[in-house]
Amino acid sequence: TRSKLPENPRSIFAEMTQLAIQHGALNMSQGFPSFPASQELKELASQAILEDHNQYAPMTGLLALRVAISQMFESQHQAFYDPNQEICVTAGATQGIFTAIQATVFKGDEVILFTPAYDCYEPAIKVAGGIPVKIPMRLPDFTIDWDQVRDAITSKTKMIIINSPHNPSGKLMTHEDMLQLEKIAVENDLIVLSDEVYEFMVFDDLEHRSASRYPGLKERSFVMGSFGKTFHVTGWKTGFCLAPPELMKEFLKVHQQVVFCVNQPIQHAIAHYLKQPQHYLDLGEFYQRKRDLFLNLIKDSRFQFTPSESTYFQLLDYSDITDESDLAFAKAITVNHKIASIPISVFMQGRDPKMLRFCFAKEDEELVAAAKILNEL
Ligand code: PMP
Ligand code: GLN
Repeated sequence: TRSKLPENPRSIFAEMTQLAIQHGALNMSQGFPSFPASQELKELASQAILEDHNQYAPMTGLLALRVAISQMFESQHQAFYDPNQEICVTAGATQGIFTAIQATVFKGDEVILFTPAYDCYEPAIKVAGGIPVKIPMRLPDFTIDWDQVRDAITSKTKMIIINSPHNPSGKLMTHEDMLQLEKIAVENDLIVLSDEVYEFMVFDDLEHRSASRYPGLKERSFVMGSFGKTFHVTGWKTGFCLAPPELMKEFLKVHQQVVFCVNQPIQHAIAHYLKQPQHYLDLGEFYQRKRDLFLNLIKDSRFQFTPSESTYFQLLDYSDITDESDLAFAKAITVNHKIASIPISVFMQGRDPKMLRFCFAKEDEELVAAAKILNEL
């Protein structure tokens, strides 16, 4: 059969995790926490199952959860989203992103994205028949050149995808970035897809500038979140999509046919848990401590780094150790030194800045063990 995604490589996350398992390596590759989720949250989920909230949920998600999400955005960003028209619970951010793109990108439409880019955007654009237009971020600090964005816009440009906090660099877009984006999007009447799944993992008193805070963006953006990230339950695959009514209307037409609705007991649990803002507001401090522990332990190693501003990822520059490709080096240290990471060249069209991505959402003992290995390289 003809392939819609002829070049789609196997997910690097699956590949490195499998290699880690095969060689008994410490797995700092795929992004997921190694520690247990909150007891309270797990009890809420168990209780919801035992109370038999086990049938189909409403198509857009439980009202209680939509209301809790709406309140979260109001308190965090002073942005109001109507739970009845502008919020949909999704099966993880991945499904939200795929659905938003299928619903709005037509054959031949161009979609701008920035590399390194998380791996789910490009295939979704291609399945929709759209054309990915990839703009490389400036190195070494992973910033966006907005003049380059202006130059890339054509009469076919339909959407810009942004991801801040950024996977894999941990870079945050600044207020100035958001103003530039807002201006470009409004002037060219573009849809914006804002992937904000690491919204609460922000360090050093920096601020996450949600697209929802900018009126010109809010009225034309899909904003994506993920409870898997925020509550340390990536396997629950539950997230949300926010959008103004006209965009949400189209989103829901596709959502209805892709999953129809998301699993009900988990939504009950999250709706309760989300009512306590401390459950997400503590996340920055929680991960900043892990970042600092890890970086402090490897400060005398041969890896160079700039502390991550956000997310649970840290890039380490290994150019003082070897000039091997990042893929070769990542595999070699998994097999020979029992530590797995993610080579980032796969997200940036082969550009290889000799950096590996390490996920520090790990138990402290694992971070100590990882540092011991890295210090010996
Ligand atoms: N966007 C980014 C930038 C991510 O890193 C991830 C997960 N690693 C997702 C989206 C997908 O989130 P989910 O697991 O909720 O589908
Ligand atoms: N988002 C996770 C990461 O960046 C991976 C999720 C996946 O395995 N698809 O590591």
